Amino acid sequence: MTDGNHRSVDLPLVDHHCHGVVEAELSDDGFRSLATESDWAAPPGTDSLDSPFGLAVRRFCAPILGLEPLAPLDEYLARRRSIGAAKANRLLLRSTGTSEYLLDTGIRDARLPEPDAMAVLADARVREIVRIERVAEEFAAESTAAGFVAKFPATLAARSREAVGLKSIIAYRHGFDIPAERPSEGEVRKAADEWFHAAERTGTFRVTDPVLLRFGLWSGIDAGLPIQLHTGYGDGDIELFRADPSRLTPFFHATRTLGVDFMLLHCYPFIREAGILAQVFPHVYLDTGLVSHYLGPSAGTAIRQAMEIAPFSKVLYSSDSYGLAEHYAVSATSWRTEFAALMDEWIAAGWATTQDADRIATMVASKNAQRVYNLNA
Ligand SMILES: [Zn+2]
Repeated sequence: MTDGNHRSVDLPLVDHHCHGVVEAELSDDGFRSLATESDWAAPPGTDSLDSPFGLAVRRFCAPILGLEPLAPLDEYLARRRSIGAAKANRLLLRSTGTSEYLLDTGIRDARLPEPDAMAVLADARVREIVRIERVAEEFAAESTAAGFVAKFPATLAARSREAVGLKSIIAYRHGFDIPAERPSEGEVRKAADEWFHAAERTGTFRVTDPVLLRFGLWSGIDAGLPIQLHTGYGDGDIELFRADPSRLTPFFHATRTLGVDFMLLHCYPFIREAGILAQVFPHVYLDTGLVSHYLGPSAGTAIRQAMEIAPFSKVLYSSDSYGLAEHYAVSATSWRTEFAALMDEWIAAGWATTQDADRIATMVASKNAQRVYNLNA
């Protein structure tokens, strides 16, 4: 299946950022809606899966479900329906060679499995990443403004006691253009009062106020776990330029010595910016999840950009899969194929020994995640 000779083709992977698969049967439209970050249907007469990801599904997933590589999409979807979602998910997930998944449980989608169910489905270890904004919204719904300000940091610490990391979606609730420092107590109290007043009118708590988002982030820093930051492309409603991680430079200066690592997730198209930050700041890391499946034939471009400037200890594998087991299968195969090809090139051109290439590939595949999230403790 793979073109490279290097052994990154068969290394066990730690997928440090993903969201689980939908276990229910999917209609073709249901499949299509999970196969894009767009919230809208494609224009009449066109197919959203006639895309780089569609090619990747046909190339890599069709053989896993017993079809010829590049079987037509209709045939693929029919095959998936006929064997059923449970079997398709099992075959696709188990094709990835992933030994451990760090599951972001923050998305409110009842179709997604809890960590224990995901572990059974994938036959792998699964541990939790807790989303700060979701904990804030759930706690707010059962609290008062004053209680929220006083007790949220302890609530977040308690909620994440069994987790290996936290995640913030400040990039798409507000943007990375935030002041470097912790918000003052007065600012937080005022913002919380306004939030609770607004919720009385709307009946829901959705945190978008930058002061409250920063309060969440700093509460996360107090909890002491690595913090994942959704970066660049990754949601239909993102204002892309505000998700450029270089906007966090003052924040990274301010947090450099606090003992908390920041994991820049997916990063596309700001992979080079993320790589520079990961080189400069000892507590910053990056991955190229999400585009490892959505770029299809061009996934190697992202994987190579991530390897341009950051130390090898700062780059991690992730799939950022959401909903479809195909995301997992394509990301893992793309990463293996492209990383092996890159290592082969470096060896052939005299840039690395085979031992160097093995060591570098193992770091990105699993070792870096194991170290940063303390997974072997
Ligand atoms: Zn994600």
